[in-house]
Amino acid sequence: MRASLIATVAATALLALAACDQKTPPAAPAAPGAPPAAPGAPPPAADPGDPVGDGGAEQTPDEALPAGPAAPAQPANPPASPPATFQHLETGDLIPGSGSGYLDRTVWSPDLCFPMADGGFANSQVYGAGGGKGPKDKTSQCDAMNYSLPWRDNFCEARGYTSPICATGTGHQGQDIRPATCKKNVHWVLASEPGIITDIGTYTVTLVGSAPPHRTYRYLHMAMGGLAVHEGDSVKAGDHLGKTSNDFGQTPTTIHTHFEIRAGVAGTTTDGKPVVLHTFLPPYASLVAAYQRQLNGEACH
Ligand SMILES: [Zn+2]
Repeated sequence: MRASLIATVAATALLALAACDQKTPPAAPAAPGAPPAAPGAPPPAADPGDPVGDGGAEQTPDEALPAGPAAPAQPANPPASPPATFQHLETGDLIPGSGSGYLDRTVWSPDLCFPMADGGFANSQVYGAGGGKGPKDKTSQCDAMNYSLPWRDNFCEARGYTSPICATGTGHQGQDIRPATCKKNVHWVLASEPGIITDIGTYTVTLVGSAPPHRTYRYLHMAMGGLAVHEGDSVKAGDHLGKTSNDFGQTPTTIHTHFEIRAGVAGTTTDGKPVVLHTFLPPYASLVAAYQRQLNGEACH
């Protein structure tokens, strides 16, 4: 069981690597400052009235991208629809000065259903535009730099929260993802795999996968007054959970979904009691692979 799990993880990690290595420029790479690529989506409008707690954006527009491989020779009859790709920085590559990232290419959730129905932009909230530690000259969370590629990891970003994998033992426990447009209560958040809604907090929804290793997913900052699920509900991968918003208790945060994966060692005691030890895992590689599947038009299952 353990060996096969490791083999599966290794295989999926290799797949993720391959996907990363095959990174080719997308058909229409988002230029710095360009609006999000969501079809039909209006450009983000400035929303200076929104208080920002945990908020901000991401990478600098001139962030260098690693050079891609040389373009392969085109076959005489190229396929009509080549696989979609999107620009994303390497795992663990945090905004300089925002903490020590963790380079982990393991796809901890190989069949993850990308949690944002309309796509999204993984990047930093605190250190991006409009964030508490963001660039001084970019004060709107709806700034185009927050809604542009490439994606950027922010697992282990400097925080006081316990996160054992991070170098200091503390850090950001998940990945922040902005929705397709800078509008709250519009974009659906989706169940990551089949499971049970085990807890709904003030601004959190927790889903535990029904199949081993019973991964725990936690989604923060949805519009909690309009959730599509209740505690105890069974969900399928891709089911609606709620809509991306900025709920964060008393003080709103930026409009985004904070997404976590916890899993660990799964086993059974000699008297048959299932045991799962949980810790926060880097979700970035799983999200990259999942978003690529969404771009490819693959259904969640
Ligand atoms: Zn977060």
